Amino acid sequence: MRRSRKVKILATLGPASSDEATIRRLFEAGADVFRINMSHTDHDLMRTLVGRIRAAEAAIGRPIGILADLQGPKLRVGKFAAGKVELSVGQTFVLDDDPTPGDQRRVHLPHPEILKSVEPGHRLLIDDGRLELVAVETTGRSIVCTVISGTKISDKKGVSLPDTDLPVGALTEKDRRDLDAVLATGVDWIALSFIQRPEDLAEARKIARGRAAIMSKIEKPQAVARLAEIIELSDALMVARGDLGVEMPLEAVPGIQKQITRAARRAGKPVVIATQMLESMIAAPVPTRAEVSDVSIAVFEGADAIMLSAESAAGEYPVESVAMMNRIAERVEKDPTYPGIINAQRSEPEATGADAISLAARQIAETLRLSAIVSYTASGTTGIRAARERPQVPIIALSPIVATARRLSLLWGTHCVVTDDASDLDDMVDRACRITFDEGFGKAGDRIIITAGVPLGTPGSTNMLRIAYIGTDGMSGH
Ligand code: PGA
Ligand code: MN
Repeated sequence: MRRSRKVKILATLGPASSDEATIRRLFEAGADVFRINMSHTDHDLMRTLVGRIRAAEAAIGRPIGILADLQGPKLRVGKFAAGKVELSVGQTFVLDDDPTPGDQRRVHLPHPEILKSVEPGHRLLIDDGRLELVAVETTGRSIVCTVISGTKISDKKGVSLPDTDLPVGALTEKDRRDLDAVLATGVDWIALSFIQRPEDLAEARKIARGRAAIMSKIEKPQAVARLAEIIELSDALMVARGDLGVEMPLEAVPGIQKQITRAARRAGKPVVIATQMLESMIAAPVPTRAEVSDVSIAVFEGADAIMLSAESAAGEYPVESVAMMNRIAERVEKDPTYPGIINAQRSEPEATGADAISLAARQIAETLRLSAIVSYTASGTTGIRAARERPQVPIIALSPIVATARRLSLLWGTHCVVTDDASDLDDMVDRACRITFDEGFGKAGDRIIITAGVPLGTPGSTNMLRIAYIGTDGMSGH
């Protein structure tokens, strides 16, 4: 089964989409990677979901990626005696270290290190910005604030501090427990939430020891400020527009989305555009025109993947949401303006064999109108560099390692197939032709271009290009 689009679709699983039949329907509608949100999933449920995705994968016969998204240092206020209170604009309201339930004058902020870091003038955005406070006085144990806008606050609401450098790493105690559990279950990608600095990736990277790849969620201004260094240390990026739109002015988000997408493409790091893409489909079978346009912008920009959150996790139309994204992506990629827009953002190759070969493979494939670029890639790196070229023809990534194929399911324009390493050059050509034919990318008489490293099985040695004909039986002609 092959997709007829380049961009990938990531669907978050949740109460609306946890059973195996729905997971299969989501895949069939177009989901390439599933996200498990560890903010809302305990370890038992996480293991159950991974088992169901793997069962669906085996039944379907295509590699499927799993992304475990860690909650990160999400700050929350404590509880109120009455569950909630009404404030008025201009009044004083205090956050402090006293665990006694809150009232109209104060509430507990159960993060002592944060109480010490906020300075007068810093904004505190509660409940996704619905309530805005500004600090006027701090003692190290309490923050005295003035209410700037909004009036409602209730138990455990989230607190964003866009102006404060938080003295916390990206992993909380809960994240460490979750990370151990998801790694033991064998997920392919780990997403880190609320990272602020490149150092925030180090601990997760060390714990993962290569068992899963690391995706950095860009959702804080501090991370945007150090984007280049964070991209360098990440395996992939997510433009996490939900929290980004709370921590930064909403009108700044579209430009930042473009900057992150372009920088990630330049670096050859997969980039995911996330949150509210088809938000109205949580409750309606059709999206708004503005949402369709928003999805199209991410596709035109050449993002690797577009993501659904509540639409697929908790909405009334999870399968329809995926199908709608699929339709939008297919149509946009057929638009006559699409190749020009994609090409305009292509980066020069770096001075490596893999990049030079990827560039040559794309040019040859496009000049000769070949059916596919077939890349032998053990670690996935060659596949990623091939996709960085954003070729018009499909990329078929062949890997003997199932974990590589699953990871690459996030990658733009790439169809991954698990196959044994070729035994010799003839076998390599035959295998590439056979798989192109069997997977529906080429017919007898079509030509493909193959990239590989010889001697076969040597990592990081991409050094070979070969044009081959598909024979009548799907094997290599000559
Ligand atoms: P979340 O991340 O859904 O885990 O909050 C995405 C975002 O903030 O956009
Ligand atoms: Mn977020």
